[in-house]
Amino acid sequence: MKIRLIVFLYWATAGICFSQPTMQIGIAKINITPKSPAFLTGYANRDKPSEGVLHDLWAKAIVLSNQKEKMIIVTTDLLGLSHQVSEEVAEKIQVKLGIERRQLMFNSSHTHSGPMIWPSLSVISEYSPEDQKIVSEYTQVLVDKLITVIVNAYEHQEPMQVLAGFTSADFAINRRALAAKKNGLSLPDPIDHEVPVIKFMNHSGEIKAVLFGYACHNTTLTGNNYLINGDYAGFAQIEIEKKIPTATAFFILGCAGDQNPEPRGTVDLAIKHGNSLANQVINLVNSNELKPVKNEIQSHFSTIPLKFKKVPATDYQKDLQSPDKFIQRRAKLMLEAYNKGWNTETYTYPIQGIRLGNEFRMIALGGEVVVDYSLRTKKEFPDKHIFVAGYSNEVMCYIPSERVLKEGGYEADSSMIYYGMPGPFEKGIEEKIMEAIYLTIKKIK
Ligand SMILES: [Zn+2]
Repeated sequence: MKIRLIVFLYWATAGICFSQPTMQIGIAKINITPKSPAFLTGYANRDKPSEGVLHDLWAKAIVLSNQKEKMIIVTTDLLGLSHQVSEEVAEKIQVKLGIERRQLMFNSSHTHSGPMIWPSLSVISEYSPEDQKIVSEYTQVLVDKLITVIVNAYEHQEPMQVLAGFTSADFAINRRALAAKKNGLSLPDPIDHEVPVIKFMNHSGEIKAVLFGYACHNTTLTGNNYLINGDYAGFAQIEIEKKIPTATAFFILGCAGDQNPEPRGTVDLAIKHGNSLANQVINLVNSNELKPVKNEIQSHFSTIPLKFKKVPATDYQKDLQSPDKFIQRRAKLMLEAYNKGWNTETYTYPIQGIRLGNEFRMIALGGEVVVDYSLRTKKEFPDKHIFVAGYSNEVMCYIPSERVLKEGGYEADSSMIYYGMPGPFEKGIEEKIMEAIYLTIKKIK
């Protein structure tokens, strides 16, 4: 009787309810900080490799499973994974663990203080063959480390209670509207300050993982920074792991294509934004407002062709003479593609959906998705508890909404030069993607 009472009191104080369903959860992290100076990517003005490390970069994997289903989410403190990297990892994981493509999701924080991943954004700098070799070697090491971290998480699963909810953080602004204002113009300024939070707790009541997201570029630090770090998301993860020492913190970037932190420019500001986001997450994690997630896992993965506006090869011939070196490099790349008969008309675009119980859904879109997609999806599915992640599976270029495409500017048009894409997307992109989002939500229910 006495023992029973002690056991009861133990579980009561640990806040555990046995009736709540548990999933099998595996967690692992691996250091992906380059060992030697690296070419940092994201800003075109940088002209030398990194000069030190402010804090380490990580790849983290979390496995969620029950008797029927499995889902693996991989987060990385990187600008974005190339198609080649995520597909090579997915293929090898399928062979090793029998995980299907729909059961594996990658996301990148889009830190602009991380190493280049070949061949993403190769147009932003003139890389010598030796430079290319260094970047390619890091990319191959990254592939191996992503496989290692996934396998480690997979092999160390234990039962955990999963709880989910939403909070908010307020330092993201619409950078297109801000830039227009500085030029005396006016543009719409949509933002999405919602922060999804998932808490994973073992039977001893220890918080083992906290997954959170936010829709804001990791660009507090600018092109004059040469120290490797994860920007505000890196600092937020560090702060959460400091305040909850048993936990691994996972950051997922939302539809941040047109969202910047404000103010920006210094390490202190990156720490300040990171801590403010971490504090919001920690407050919710320590409250009793998170809802237990029913033990159901669903996922769906598909690709759709997105059309580019037609550009005749003669335009690229002209671009070869451009005084702008980026336009010249893109033209060279496109003419090579034309000559080799590669597809320059469409991009095969990935869309993924994940459902955990009825308490959390995630639509994971490839590329630098503008915030309109998140706001529209949530508005059209108000009762589905959805977080729309961008920068997922691969980052090929910006993904404008119809409004942004019509307004033009960097996210709609000129950024395509740096990404080595043929030109802007064709009209109708938003409806095509929304149609695929509808189908995905229907598939995961
Ligand atoms: Zn970006």
